[in-house]
Amino acid sequence: MGDKPMASPDTVIIVPEAEIAGLITAEIAFDAVEATFAAMSRRSAYNFPVIREAIGHAEALYGFKSGFDRESLALGLKSGGYWPGNEAKGLTNHQSTVILFDADSGRVKALVGGNLLTALRTAAASAVSIKYLAPKDAKVLGMIGAGHQSAFQMRAAAQQRSFERVIGWNYHPEMLSRLANTAAELGLPFESVSLNELGQTADVIISITSSFEPILLDRQVTGGTHIACMGTDTKGKQEVEAGILERATVFTDEVAQSISIGEAQHAVASGKLAESRISEIGSVINGDHAGRQSDSELTVFDGTGVGLQDLAVAHVAVDIAKQKGVAQEISF
Ligand code: NAD
Repeated sequence: MGDKPMASPDTVIIVPEAEIAGLITAEIAFDAVEATFAAMSRRSAYNFPVIREAIGHAEALYGFKSGFDRESLALGLKSGGYWPGNEAKGLTNHQSTVILFDADSGRVKALVGGNLLTALRTAAASAVSIKYLAPKDAKVLGMIGAGHQSAFQMRAAAQQRSFERVIGWNYHPEMLSRLANTAAELGLPFESVSLNELGQTADVIISITSSFEPILLDRQVTGGTHIACMGTDTKGKQEVEAGILERATVFTDEVAQSISIGEAQHAVASGKLAESRISEIGSVINGDHAGRQSDSELTVFDGTGVGLQDLAVAHVAVDIAKQKGVAQEISF
């Protein structure tokens, strides 16, 4: 017994929330999310059904998003949700942790802080949609929403087009300073405007709110705009009027989520949009869909947020953490 080699103890890698900022940039998140959307459209990566529940405590929405990517072997889940009272306590409203499993054995492989990753992967999703769908010469970025995610959204969008200015609207005007400060950080002028002006002027609009009523109305959007609806990730939420999706060319990360918990849920339920008219952004990335066909076309990206996005960025975070020597390993 004494001469038997000791089996090395099973270990789990921990990448703490505080390390993520030093590991994952907006560019890294963009590449991971773009590759994931492409793999989803090739049917080599798929998401499992989402669980999301109002738990009847602290007004919280809690749930799981999970999936498996046969190309990268990313397997696991993101658990967490939305606690609206957190900000008052100095905490982020979104709380999440990613758990990765070894695809060959089912053993738990890593625990990764998911808060910053969520913001980065969500911003990466709308940035991917802007890359493939926005007018090439887009100059004005319109922001609806000024919460935690909005700054990440603006930064990621600014990498995709040569925007000359940012305009914004928020339900709580006192929060608009976040947009002004982020635009200043990017060297862009910012102006707070009415929704009429935003809809008429912006070439690209990102909506990232927790609204349950349409904010942007069909009549307010007049040009060949690209709209990334990023806030609607739950049944009942809505950011834009269903008529916008009725006349737009509609894309999404995943059709099943789009029609159930995404922005398209309302247009589909009211018969304004057939499910068959919603295309995966991955099909554009893979060259199977032409994407935007003219400057006057209205395009919508319904970014519902899929578990595979979380797994993709967490997977990369673990690899980089190991390379940089900041991954903590514990016996498990
Ligand atoms: P936050 O709490 O920091 O900000 C909330 C935003 O919504 C603010 O702009 C606020 O003014 C606005 N808002 C609140 N109530 C409103 C109302 N009744 N009408 C219109 N606007 C209202 O939240 P956040 O972290 O910035 O997240 C914003 C939204 O994005 C949330 O709904 C969240 O669930 C969603 N989200 C989606 C994804 C995805 O992948 N699609 C990922 C993360 C977050």
